[in-house]
Amino acid sequence: MNNQAKMQVKLIDYASAPLEKLYAAFRTCYSADTPLEIWQKIEAEKISHEKIREFIGERLKTGHASPLEQVVFWFAIAGVSRSLSHQFVRHRIGISFEQQSQRYVRFKEEKLAFVMPESWTRAGLDAEYAELLEHTSRLYARALKAGIPAEDARFVLPNAAPTNFHVMVNFAEMLHICDLRLCVRAQWEIRRMVAMMRAEIKRVLPEIAVFLQPKCGENRMGYCDESLHDWEICPLGKVRPHKSKLFEIYERHGARKSRDLSDAEFRAVEEKEQL
Ligand SMILES: Cc1cc2nc3c(=O)[nH]c(=O)nc-3n(C[C@H](O)[C@H](O)[C@H](O)COP(=O)(O)OP(=O)(O)OC[C@H]3O[C@@H](n4cnc5c(N)ncnc54)[C@H](O)[C@@H]3O)c2cc1C
Repeated sequence: MNNQAKMQVKLIDYASAPLEKLYAAFRTCYSADTPLEIWQKIEAEKISHEKIREFIGERLKTGHASPLEQVVFWFAIAGVSRSLSHQFVRHRIGISFEQQSQRYVRFKEEKLAFVMPESWTRAGLDAEYAELLEHTSRLYARALKAGIPAEDARFVLPNAAPTNFHVMVNFAEMLHICDLRLCVRAQWEIRRMVAMMRAEIKRVLPEIAVFLQPKCGENRMGYCDESLHDWEICPLGKVRPHKSKLFEIYERHGARKSRDLSDAEFRAVEEKEQL
């Protein structure tokens, strides 16, 4: 198929001094200093870059995640399919999308590109796929010429039709998106796009990118919580453990035994003033 869309992912911009912002946001919570005093120390270089990185690394191991919302990235994304965009826009917290409209944009027949999964080529069905999409393009163009508005002509466009995004996303949501979409359980196209977003961040902010991993990564949850079967067939399953395996080891070697939480445990949690 000669009119194949090419995925493009570019980090357009990010909130300046992201590490310093993270440091100051976290520090404000744990310090007697005011935020202004913290920033004065940062600007006077009284706190080394190394110390800032270390401090953030330690905080990221905890559940205190709201400061991560203060670091923001902007991406330009093009040439992804409408199949991908349906999935992408399901993310609803900490992310803002602008997507190319099929109502206002009247695509020219020769400009109607499509995304084709490699599986169609592997199955030897790529020529038929291309033929169907060429037919679709011609029908779409005829519909526009016949006076059908673009918002109605688009009804013949398939999931393979490409689309473009301008996206703003904060670091907390980017971590969550990577948790889910870098996992091999995610669909290949969105996995590829999120991998490209991560690579873009890594290009300019390697200290931040190190935390962008699938949820089983050592800097995230650390283990796989998908089904045992999915873990067994996952390439990452060779290097990251499955939740059930951790429980097996805990049961076998742990000094404490785990069991279901009973009313007695809830009472203990409720009654203890200081845990
Ligand atoms: C492998 C895979 C398969 C999937 N299959 C399907 C499918 O078959 N059908 C389908 O419909 N969808 C499917 N999805 C989409 C999925 O259900 C979510 O809609 C999508 O991943 C968006 O993530 P999120 O809900 O965490 O939203 P985000 O906006 O990314 O959430 C960010 C964080 O905020 C929390 N949050 C968001 N909204 C609320 C809320 N209202 N209340 C409390 N907490 C909230 C989330 O839990 C999360 O911690 C699939 C996703 C994946 C990764």
